[in-house]
Amino acid sequence: MFFSGKKSIALLAAASLLLTFLLSGCSAVKSLETANTKISKTGFAFDTVIVITLYGTDDESILDGCMELADYYNRLLSATLEGSDIWNINHAEGKDTTVNEETYLLLQTALSYASKSEGAFNPALGTVIDLWDFNSESACVPSDEDLAKALEHIDYNNILLKADNIVQLLDPELKVNLGAIAKGYIADRMKDYLTSMDVSSAIINLGGNVYALGEKPDGSKYTVGIQKPFDDTGSAITSVSISNQSIVTSGTYERYFEQDGVLYHHILDPDTGYPADNGLLSVTILSKESVDGDALSTTCFVLGLDEGLSLIESTSDTEALFITEDYEFHYSSGFPK
Ligand code: ADP
Ligand code: MG
Repeated sequence: MFFSGKKSIALLAAASLLLTFLLSGCSAVKSLETANTKISKTGFAFDTVIVITLYGTDDESILDGCMELADYYNRLLSATLEGSDIWNINHAEGKDTTVNEETYLLLQTALSYASKSEGAFNPALGTVIDLWDFNSESACVPSDEDLAKALEHIDYNNILLKADNIVQLLDPELKVNLGAIAKGYIADRMKDYLTSMDVSSAIINLGGNVYALGEKPDGSKYTVGIQKPFDDTGSAITSVSISNQSIVTSGTYERYFEQDGVLYHHILDPDTGYPADNGLLSVTILSKESVDGDALSTTCFVLGLDEGLSLIESTSDTEALFITEDYEFHYSSGFPK
């Protein structure tokens, strides 16, 4: 399962992430013909809807290039796609696996978030994630016995990163899963690609993991909506103006099922193996790099409001909005309200 997903209306709504753009005027550096041009493409990758929107160009091949990148990284980082780097690591039975350098570096980043959060963010949670299988239409609460067994194999210290891009699992039953960080990483790579193609104004939206490149053609910032939890129409509960920034939300309402009147969502507390249950509905992170926003939104969700906020306050160039079950907003000190 990669970016495990219930293809619900809610997810589609989240993916569109309520982006609102006002197009007017034109930039001095763009030709008059293309300055107000807007092209966009929607695709489906890693179990989520992706929408790429470019301003100031009519070159559709750049949109295709973005979709190819999504496909490339899916084939590299998916936990379920046979032959991906992560699949290879998970099926090596404890032997060495040589991976692509990018996979190696992303694992390094994921492990640094794991140690920074003392395991609240855990890239070794695959056995537990697979057991819950939020992807499946028939997802249900696992048995205590199965959960206890899965929890025996989630020690991220058993992911050994050796020299020359070699990865070894010291616990052969451990399953690596990068679903909580990969979309952010991919958004960053798409941003680099767009910059290399001279695109200076774009919105990359990978299932709600958004990067806003540059400014709108009129020079103002993009207005990005933050989804109202559990609102199937996808309306915004608030919005933020950003430029050259990432905005990522992790929320209970993104993937969940109900059993016996209880809602079970996809952000798991590695201490219990159960969905993190700490009064939060969503955590939104503003950051320069989307990889950090993605990792931090999941991390802060598991840490909860108090610990999450103090982590954000001690992280430079990063702001957060926590929404609690009473729909109250809790902002970090520098959040642009
Ligand atoms: P999404 O990918 O749905 O936007 P997140 O970035 O918050 O949301 O990632 C949640 C996904 O990450 C889950 O679906 C699961 O595959 C995985 N995951 C769940 N809990 C954790 C955790 N504590 N640490 C790392 N990965 C997790
Ligand atoms: Mg995340």
